[in-house]
This record gives sequence, structure tokens and C-alpha cells, in this order.
Amino acid sequence: MVIFKKVAYIQQYISAQRVGGRQVGFVPTMGALHDGHISLVGQAKQAADMVVSSIFVNPTQFNDKADFEKYPISVEADVAMLIDAGCDVLLLPSVDEMYPNGTADMPVFDFGYLDTVLEGAKRPGHFKGVGQIVARLLDIVKPDKLFMGQKDYQQCMVVKNLLQQLGSNTDMIICPTQREPDGLAMSSRNRRLTTPQRALAGVIYQCLVSIKTKQTEGNFALVHKECADLMAAKGFEVEYISLADADDLTILDNYNANRPMVALIAAKLGDIRLIDNMLLQ
Ligand code: AMP
Repeated sequence: MVIFKKVAYIQQYISAQRVGGRQVGFVPTMGALHDGHISLVGQAKQAADMVVSSIFVNPTQFNDKADFEKYPISVEADVAMLIDAGCDVLLLPSVDEMYPNGTADMPVFDFGYLDTVLEGAKRPGHFKGVGQIVARLLDIVKPDKLFMGQKDYQQCMVVKNLLQQLGSNTDMIICPTQREPDGLAMSSRNRRLTTPQRALAGVIYQCLVSIKTKQTEGNFALVHKECADLMAAKGFEVEYISLADADDLTILDNYNANRPMVALIAAKLGDIRLIDNMLLQ
């Protein structure tokens, strides 16, 4: 695997490698890698001729300064995992390299409704930062295929919207959420959970399964209350337990068999914020 810290050098390298129509697959990450990230690299390897990944903890997408400061960093282990996974190229840039002129003059993307609900409402400015960094990374790597995880469902919708706004030809491939044996969605933030917190964290998945299973009973308000009560009893601070249209994220008050549906949960255990979701079909 070739590692680049400088944007100019990786651009030269990728464009030289692209000869003969070789397809570039791209897996952007913030590091602290786990098997969820590695599954994206695996899918990229199957679908593209060359896999590029990036590790960059993007400061502009953290609305919570403490969350940014405590974000886990494990570059050496990450590099070893990427090599094992067969990643070809890694971009490991500094903040100055990504934002050489700061962010003031960078384009600001308007994600409309998507930026007002769920993660958009709970994390003001988050998707603005995501839009900034993804646009910058796309401009550097110019991938044919972009691999993102369903774990960050709303982020996938935002990036799809961004690709449209950019008039980009990049295909986005949404990869399934990888889970721990108890159902907890793999996440870099999980490693900050204490042992007792970790033992409870699978409850989020149990609630998503129960929202999905009980759709036949047709009473989301009841299931919502059961899940909210259970999570509160276990010590979670629930931010939302929501049912939404899977295509446009319209919030649904109740199950609707005529719409594609997704259940989404965000909750904190101590100061660690966890999100997860599940499609209901
Ligand atoms: P992050 O490092 O958290 O920014 O994640 C980088 C990419 O990995 C994003 O596209 C995430 O959606 C994806 N990802 C994170 N966790 C998982 C998971 N458990 N399963 C699949 N993809 C994931």
C-alpha cells in the first residue's frame, strides 16, 4: 500500500494509475478502523481495479468539540488493517493539506430538508462539514465508485445529494452495517465505551429489531414507548427513536405499508453518542 500525506502527490499517482481505464474505488474514513470499514474496502476491491482509502478526522463536521478531541486515533493499527485488506493507496493528510486556505471560501452545500431532521437537527453544522470534506476528497481522488456504510444512513443520503449537486459521475455504493455478536453496530466510538456501557449497548439493536418485527401490529407509538422506556431504564439518554420514509427521510408517525421505511435511533451512553438504523422491508 502506498501512503500519501500530500494531496499533489496522491493526485499525480492516481492519475498515472488510471491509465487503461482502471476503475478507482474510494473508501473515505476517519480512522480507528474496525471490520465495518474493512468490509467497505473488501467491497471496493471486488468492484474496482484500485482501492483508495483516506483517514482524516475532519474537524469541521464535529459540532461537539469534546467529541472531536476524544475521537480515537490508531493510525499504525489502521495502516496494518488496510494492508491486510488489500487497500492499494492511503491518503493520510494534515488539516492544512485538506484546508490550505481555511474553510471560509469553500463552497457551502445546501442539503435542504435533510439538514433539518434527525442528525441534521441534533448536530447543527455536521452535514455542512461532511459536504465540505467529501467534496474536497472527491475532487482529489476522483473515484469511479464511492463506498459508504448504511450505518450512517442520513450521511449516505446527504452524499448522494452532494453527488447530484456536483454533477458527479461517481457511483455511490451503500454497504451493509457490520455488527458485533450482540447486534451493536461497529463504530470507532465503541472503543470509548466502558465495560458496563458496552454490555448495555446492544439494546439499540434490540429496539431496532423490535420496531421492525412489530410493524405487523401497526402501532409505532406503542413500540416507540416500549423502546424509549427500555433504553431510559438501561441508562441511555435517547435523542431520537424515529420511523422515516427510507427514500426521503420524511418522519412517519406510524407504520405505512405503502412506503419504504427505515427506523433510526440516536442515543448517548455517558458522553458517547451512538447511532444505528434498520430498513423495515
Ligand atoms: P467513519 O470512519 O465513521 O467516518 O466511517 C467511514 C465509513 O465507514 C462511512 O461510510 C461509514 O458509514 C462506514 N461505516 C462505519 N461503521 C460501519 C459499520 N459498522 N458497517 C459498515 N460500514 C460502516
